[in-house]
Amino acid sequence: MREVYLDYAATAPVEQRVLHKMNEAFEHVYGNPSSMHLIGRKAKGYVEAARESIAAYIGADPKEIYFTSGGTESDNWALKGVVEAAKQKNAHIITSAIEHHAILHTCAYLEERGCRVTRLSVDANGSVNPQEVEKAICPDTVLISIMTANNEIGTILPVAEIGRIAKKHNILFHSDAVQALGSVKIDVNEMNVDLLSFSAHKIYGPKGIGAMYIRKGTPIANFMHGGAQELSKRAGTHNVTGIVGFGEAVEMLRENDAKYVAHYNQIRTDLYRQIQENVEDVLLNGDEENRLPNNLNISIGYVEGEALLISLDMEGICVSTGSACSSGSMAPSHVLGALGVEDEFIHGTLRLTVGRYTTKEDIDYTAKKIKEVVDRLRAMSPLYKDRRK
Ligand SMILES: *Cc1c(COP(=O)(O)O)cnc(C)c1O
Repeated sequence: MREVYLDYAATAPVEQRVLHKMNEAFEHVYGNPSSMHLIGRKAKGYVEAARESIAAYIGADPKEIYFTSGGTESDNWALKGVVEAAKQKNAHIITSAIEHHAILHTCAYLEERGCRVTRLSVDANGSVNPQEVEKAICPDTVLISIMTANNEIGTILPVAEIGRIAKKHNILFHSDAVQALGSVKIDVNEMNVDLLSFSAHKIYGPKGIGAMYIRKGTPIANFMHGGAQELSKRAGTHNVTGIVGFGEAVEMLRENDAKYVAHYNQIRTDLYRQIQENVEDVLLNGDEENRLPNNLNISIGYVEGEALLISLDMEGICVSTGSACSSGSMAPSHVLGALGVEDEFIHGTLRLTVGRYTTKEDIDYTAKKIKEVVDRLRAMSPLYKDRRK
């Protein structure tokens, strides 16, 4: 059976080039980068080379890059670390309603411990109005955290403008840039950010490794306590092979990002065009212009996303729905809920994210199968029959 992977926003395969570099590290670089001897220094060299690659790609100083276990840890650290360092009762955080759960659930945790959180609503395209951010600022505000690009609907948010506002009011600004890296230009100064979260597995690197950019002088408490790694800010023996893979994945972005983006854009646009031509009642979620080049998020009226996903899965097509299906519930995602998608459409949401290896044949096959599946599901749907009357 044909296998078509259209879930690159969930994770991407490790690039061959990345794998080779990691294998080299696995075989030959076994030292602990914190050891002072020859073998340790050799490992440290690999870690520092990766750090420099990442720093150079985002316009940062290598000393401002801290390796973590991934995007989730970076998000947790940013929020909990800044709040703890602020040593302030009733510390206030401003975020958006469409953040990743690594942000939203951390905010809920902090709320239970006395913080106040403002979750800004978004417009119909899933964007945050910078003026709303400014209005939400109060004397207790210690942090603004707004993602660079959304993982479900692909909307790219006006972070540079929000950063300017944060700076003007002398408030720290964090952004979850996990989905944006490689698709949106990341420059820590242009974006006016103090903290950024990254993850390697979304950019064709290994899982379980990520990083945080922390601008020099940013007051932030440690999240992991132990050894003196990462300038004594993030303890734990370095995940050397993971870091090497992450660095190589970023090198590939540095060399080819424009080429990847052009490919995503072309293949995603083709997929959307074919679906629009073949299926009635399809809505695009997210911003049409300011969106990630590889993201297509659509709501198909009068069908259930779960049924679509299962039917496509039987055809070898791997996509994601817009519902919290991992828990077995059919609740629409918090992101689609925040957009205010109509009831008849919200349950039929699919997220299709293309990647470097997605081909024209994959897209043609997927569009054809979506039409077949939707036609079949609608033929059985009383809602659709009512609508036809
Ligand atoms: C995937 C993702 C994360 C989590 O990153 P992990 O490395 O998987 O922990 C956080 N934020 C966004 C926007 C993501 O897409």
